[in-house]
Parts: sequence; structure tokens; C-alpha cells
Amino acid sequence: MRKVIVLGASGFIGSHLVHRLKTEGHYVVGVDIREQEFTSATPHEFIQGDLRDQQFTQSLFNQAFDEVYQLAADMGGAAYIFTGMHDADIMHNSVQINLNVAEALKHTPTKLFYSSSACIYPEENQLDAAHPNCAEHSAFPANPDSEYGWEKIFSERLYLSYARNYQLNVRIARFHNIYGPFGAYVGGKEKAPAAICRKVAMASENDVIEVWGSGQQTRSFLYIDECLNGIQRLMDSEVKQPINIGSIEMVTINQLTQMVIAISGKTLTIKNIDGPVGVNGRCSDNRLIQDLLHWQPNYPLQTGLEHLYSWVLKEVTGLSSNW
Ligand code: NAD
Repeated sequence: MRKVIVLGASGFIGSHLVHRLKTEGHYVVGVDIREQEFTSATPHEFIQGDLRDQQFTQSLFNQAFDEVYQLAADMGGAAYIFTGMHDADIMHNSVQINLNVAEALKHTPTKLFYSSSACIYPEENQLDAAHPNCAEHSAFPANPDSEYGWEKIFSERLYLSYARNYQLNVRIARFHNIYGPFGAYVGGKEKAPAAICRKVAMASENDVIEVWGSGQQTRSFLYIDECLNGIQRLMDSEVKQPINIGSIEMVTINQLTQMVIAISGKTLTIKNIDGPVGVNGRCSDNRLIQDLLHWQPNYPLQTGLEHLYSWVLKEVTGLSSNW
């Protein structure tokens, strides 16, 4: 049994991670600025507080942990990170959190996991929707298409410099569009799979579903359980360089929408409208993870969407759902 702390424990990935770590028998402390919204996956100990506060963050580590999972960030879907409306907060809040965490853990043997993002990859490598380049070594020269991506690449380098100079024991994953139940599906911070499930779940027969952009932009989506498997494999390894954790099952956003419509059994029409969309194409490149960890995710998008749709349907039709 390990003693672990999850920062951002009330978030989508954080709450799933708390559940997984508890199920594996570890003692889990969770930290977040807010309480959990959707799940009953509570940590053994929950500490509510603001990780932007250096004293608060430092105080968490008055006790020793075997592992720290740093998932706290000011983030959301396209409406949150691609409109420019939240750029200053995104950069300020997340940098502040990461500075505090790095400082609190320097010169400790504690193993730290940091959740970076596919959003760090240069915009020019993702212009061709059919052939995006998200190989890890293509990250530099850096040119992310959002301030969210710039913050992530800064924080990667922050942690790597603390590893170099202060023996910080860090593992860094670049997540590619993680999805699944118990995450935001409404309110402005939801991402494409949950937002599309909500629109489809709320639609009546023969309705029109609005989808942002041309619908030809491509992405790959990784089911939450596989994300947790990837985190675990990375944490159990000695791989110190940033590594993609994502799926290689690339679809257009309209194809994703069609899959959800088919799952719903409804007859609906897609209408593509103007909206914040991000890069034209993005898909995980799994050659490095396969080489270094001898593993890559293989969970089918179809199955994951069935789980997500059934959860969102219950949420929007008022039926309760729980682990
Ligand atoms: P989320 O927004 O659901 O969770 C983030 C959590 O951090 C929230 O519960 C939030 O309250 C907490 N938080 C924010 N500011 C805080 C503060 N000042 N003090 C304490 N807690 C604070 O996001 P998520 O989808 O679970 O993502 C987790 C991590 O993975 C984030 O770092 C995110 O950038 C990264 N990531 C996620 C995805 C994805 O597809 N979900 C993709 C790439 C990277």
C-alpha cells in the first residue's frame, strides 16, 4: 500500500484516479479547490484549498507521500480555451499551481506525475487534418495554438528543470482528449464527446444537432480507464521524458457525432456552424510509448462512447447514476 496525494482530485480525471488508487488498496489524500460534482469516489482524506497559495501547497507536504499526481489546472473544452476569454486566468492560475508544486517537492524522493497535454504541439504540424504530426520530438520549436498549450509546455520545462537541478522525480504525460462518464457535460468547460452526447441526448427525433467548425477537423479520444492504465505504466517506469498518452483511432468530429447519434438510435441531422475548434487535425503518435513502455491503449471508441452516452443520458433525463 502506498500513500498518495491527488491534486485536482475533484476533477474529471482526478476523481477517476482517486477511485482507481483506492480500489488498488492505496491510502489516498485528495486536494481540490472545490468538492466533487458527479461521483462518490471520495478519497480517504479530502483537503479543500487553493493550490495557487504557496503556503497551503507547502503545508500539504508536511507529511510524506510516496506519489503525487498533479492534475489541478484551470482548463476546459474548446469554448473555454480557444475563445481567448480566459487566457490570462488559464496561464496565471496553472503556472502558479505548478510553481508551488515544483517548489514544494524539490530535493524530495517523492515521485511526481504531471499531466501535460497534446495542446503543446506546434500548430503548423496539425494543419493537415488527415496527417497531423504529434510525435513527442516534434514539440520544438514550440508553437502551440492556445495559451493553454503554452502554459503546459512551460510547466513541462519547469518540472524538467527542477528534475535537472533539484532532483525532482517527475513523470510527464501528454494526454490526448480523455473522455468518459463523471466529467463536465454542460456549463462551458465540457469537451466535444460529452457536449455531443448532451446535445444528442436532449434532442427529439428528427432534430438538427449543431456541431462547431466544418466537422472535418480530426481528433483521437482516449477512454478514461485507458488513461489511468497509461498513468500507472508511466509511474511504474523510469521514463523521464514527456510521453503521449492517447489513442490512435482518429475520427472527424462529424464522424464522432454520427457514432453518438447511432448509439442513441435517433434520426438526427448534423449542422456545422461557426465556433471555437482548435487545430485542423490531432492524433496521438504512440511509437514512443510502445517503444519505451511496450504498451499502448487499444480500447475502442465505440465502446467508450456507449458508456459516456448512457451516463450523459441519465444525467440530462434526471436519473441518478453512481459508481
Ligand atoms: P478538470 O477541470 O476536470 O480537473 C481539474 C481540477 O483542478 C478541478 O477539479 C479544479 O477544481 C482543480 N483546480 C483548478 N484550480 C485549482 C486550484 N487553484 N487549487 C486546487 N484545485 C484546483 O480537468 P481534467 O479533465 O480532469 O484534467 C486533469 C489534468 O489533465 C489537467 O491538468 C488538464 O490540463 C490535463 N489534461 C486533460 C485532458 C482531457 O482531455 N481531460 C487533456 C489533456 C490534458
